[in-house]
Amino acid sequence: MSYPEFRYVAPQSVKEAVEILHRASEIGIKAKVLAGGTDLMVQLRNRATVPDLVVDISRITALQRIERMGNEIRIGPIVTHTMLASSDLIREYTGVLSEAAKTVGSPQIRNMGTLGGNIVNASPAADTIPALVILEADLILTGPSGERQLPVTDFFTGPYKTVIAPDEILMGIVVPLPPRSGRAVFLKLARRKALAIARMNLACMLYYNRQKEVFEWVRLCVGSSTPRPVRMTAAERALIGQPFSDKVLQSAGKAAAEQMVQLSGLRSSTAYKKPVVGDLIIRAVKLAVEKG
Ligand SMILES: Cc1cc2nc3c(=O)[nH]c(=O)nc-3n(C[C@H](O)[C@H](O)[C@H](O)COP(=O)(O)OP(=O)(O)OC[C@H]3O[C@@H](n4cnc5c(N)ncnc54)[C@H](O)[C@@H]3O)c2cc1C
Repeated sequence: MSYPEFRYVAPQSVKEAVEILHRASEIGIKAKVLAGGTDLMVQLRNRATVPDLVVDISRITALQRIERMGNEIRIGPIVTHTMLASSDLIREYTGVLSEAAKTVGSPQIRNMGTLGGNIVNASPAADTIPALVILEADLILTGPSGERQLPVTDFFTGPYKTVIAPDEILMGIVVPLPPRSGRAVFLKLARRKALAIARMNLACMLYYNRQKEVFEWVRLCVGSSTPRPVRMTAAERALIGQPFSDKVLQSAGKAAAEQMVQLSGLRSSTAYKKPVVGDLIIRAVKLAVEKG
């Protein structure tokens, strides 16, 4: 199968990229942003998208930084999964994102695929999204009328659907430093180990107070389980203030399964996913508590 024909531009700055996108949208030209191309090239080949213009942002080096600024880490959208997985800053403060990035595709996909592309593509199976949700990350979008910052959970409206306008680009991911007491786990279930898109994935971060023998705080997000990424608040509530026991873990697993069905309705995959979501939650919480 061949690729559709399109014009290609590679702007050198964010300002230039936004101007090109804005001009294109004003005159009715369909433009697509290209970062690593690991999603977009497949979509072009399948004719899932047929743009007139491809705007390659991969050479805008200002978008490839990972920096600590006060109590937050700012990540540029064209930071690749390989960079995320190997960054000391990410590993030390937001290790769950590093763990998620390590599981993406193959080395080649991790070398090309970017965090921004993973977010904007908005696949329900995207591995970095549950990690960003429990890290309570914000996204910065920039367009012709300036910048806007929004919580990552407000960005998605459904599978492969987001609030980004055709003349906006995602220009930054802001991750507040989580409390140092937190212990985090990322789990991924896939059909095969290598190159598999997640069937389901889960990010968990919690603090279990061993003196008081209770969960002080818990954050959970399960990918591919709800129409848009959300915190598993029912399971979080079932754990907070409770001791680490089989009974409490079982009730958290059950609460997560019920929340999933409530949000997604009954689907052909429910028979598989309902027990699995509960089991994933229990496994992740146990692993996080074992981390000390
Ligand atoms: C073989 C294979 C295996 C894979 N395995 C996994 C996996 O295990 N886990 C996983 O999560 N994903 C996986 N993927 C999907 C893909 O690699 C990731 O989603 C990757 O992070 C996409 O990033 P990219 O830079 O290649 O995005 P691109 O393909 O360049 O872009 C993706 C979409 O985002 C838009 N976009 C990109 N950056 C911006 C921006 N800054 N502003 C506005 N719009 C933007 C593009 O217009 C496009 O619509 C796999 C893909 C392949 C082909």
